[in-house]
Amino acid sequence: MLEISEIFCSIQGEGYRQGIPAIFIRLYGCNLNCKFCDTPQAFKKKRLMQEKEIIEKVEFLAKKKAKISNVIITGGEPYLQDFSLLAELLKKNGYFVAVETNGTIWREIDLDWICISPKRDALKLMPSGYDKRFKKVASEFKYVITKKSDILFVDKSIDKPVILQPVNNDLRIASMILMEIKKAGMPNWFIRLQLHKVMKLR
Ligand code: SF4
Repeated sequence: MLEISEIFCSIQGEGYRQGIPAIFIRLYGCNLNCKFCDTPQAFKKKRLMQEKEIIEKVEFLAKKKAKISNVIITGGEPYLQDFSLLAELLKKNGYFVAVETNGTIWREIDLDWICISPKRDALKLMPSGYDKRFKKVASEFKYVITKKSDILFVDKSIDKPVILQPVNNDLRIASMILMEIKKAGMPNWFIRLQLHKVMKLR
């Protein structure tokens, strides 16, 4: 049984896998309180759903929307809840299962793609802003950049793709990020705008 905020169909608007049609399962609640949070819906609506019920909803949307095979479990902070059974059932049903997390709560869950998005608000919980056990299993890292000093928070020891995302698609911040990527000379750092916002999707 999981607390769900919403289940909907859209595209992956952020990160390395940007542009892929996907079904989003948004789990309720978060353990952080970022000033720039753009998912207020993760704190408002809450519905208790059995894992089988969630799969039925996903299957309905996947078929309705022309065979979508990607599912993204997100939040809020999804690791607040044990979604291992949901992930297992989704994989059994043939879905590619990704998760987006702030990386502060460690659970060993078998997934196809793990995006860690460390937040400065997490520095009060741990020195690096994320649980280092995620470093081995992560597929990508994504940092929201609000100002130049946020670049200093980016962990340079990460050898996976690192996405630097200007807050609210701010183009002034995007230009600054581009300059900083050039200066840093990190071959695994990328800049990405939020595509779903450009396209005015959810
Ligand atoms: S970690 Fe994400 S969902 Fe949680 S408050 Fe920060 S931006 Fe919002």
